[in-house]
Amino acid sequence: MILDCHSHIASFKYFPVEFFRGWSDTIKRTLPYSLSDSQSRKLDLLFDGLMDDSECERLSMEMDEAGITKSILLVIDFGITYKKYQDDIEEIHKCHVEIMSKTDKFIGFSGVDPRRGKEGIDLFEKAVTKWGFKGLKLYPPCGYSPSDSLLDPYYEICSSMGLPVLVHIGPTSAALPFRFSQPIELDSAAHRFPKVNFIMGHAGVTQYQEAALLAQYRPNIYLDISGFQGELNHGQFSKIMKWNISKGLSKRVLFGTDWPIHRFFGRQKKWVEAVKDLERQHILSKQDLENIMFNNLHQILFSEAQHGAK
Ligand SMILES: [Zn+2]
Repeated sequence: MILDCHSHIASFKYFPVEFFRGWSDTIKRTLPYSLSDSQSRKLDLLFDGLMDDSECERLSMEMDEAGITKSILLVIDFGITYKKYQDDIEEIHKCHVEIMSKTDKFIGFSGVDPRRGKEGIDLFEKAVTKWGFKGLKLYPPCGYSPSDSLLDPYYEICSSMGLPVLVHIGPTSAALPFRFSQPIELDSAAHRFPKVNFIMGHAGVTQYQEAALLAQYRPNIYLDISGFQGELNHGQFSKIMKWNISKGLSKRVLFGTDWPIHRFFGRQKKWVEAVKDLERQHILSKQDLENIMFNNLHQILFSEAQHGAK
C-alpha cells in the first residue's frame, strides 16, 4: 500500500495562470535548446493540458494504476498574492470537500494565508472541525515565513488536535520570491511547537542537506520527496536518498508526487517505480521502502501517538 503526502486538484480554478506560467517558463529555460515563439506557445498549451482534471478522475485512475491507496489533496491559498483569488478561499475549500465526499481516496489539508487575520483562523478552524480537513498546507513563497508569529494560532490548533502542517520549501514558480522558502525558515516554528509534525514539502530539493540536517535534529520535521522527479537524471535522486538514509532518516521521509505539477515527467506509476528501484539498487532496505511509501505518513495521520517530539 502507498500513501501520497502531496497532491493538488489539477485545475486553473486552484492555480493562478500567472503562477503556473512562471513555473513552465523555468522548465523551458532549463531545456538544453532554445525554443522558437511557436514552439514556446505549443509547450504552453501542453502544460495547460496538465490542468484538465478538476474532478480528480484522471488522478484517481493513475493512483489505481500506481498502487497509491490514498493521496493528500492540498489547498494552496494564493488569494493574498493574486488578488482575484482573494474571495474564493472558502469556496475552494468547499470544492475540495465535495471531491472528498465522493470517495475515500482523498484526505484534505486546508490552506490559509496567515495574513488573512482572524477570518483566516476562523476558516481554518471550521475546515478542521466541521469539514474534515486533516492538516494545514502553507505556501511561504506567497510572501510570509512559516515561523511568522501570525501562524501561532494555527499551530496551536494543530498542536491540540494532533494535525500536521505541510510547508512548501525550495524554489518554485519564478513569478514568486523564494526568500521564505529556505529550510531554515521552518526551524523556529518547529522548535516552538514541538507537538506539531511539520512536513517539509520537497525535502529542500536544491538544499537537501540543510533539510536533512533539520530533520535529523528536530524530531517533528519530516521530508516529503515530491518534486524529485526532476532529479532522477544523472543519479541525483539516488544520491540524495543515500544522503537521507545515511543520516538515519528512513522514518522521516514521506512519498509524495505533487500531482499535477510533474505530470510532464510521466504517469504516477513511473515515479512510484523510480522510488521502488531504490530497493533494487540496495539504497533502501525493504523496511525503509515500506516506511517511506506508507508507514511514516500513516503514523502521522492516524496514530494515537501522532505527535512528533514526546
Ligand atoms: Zn505542491
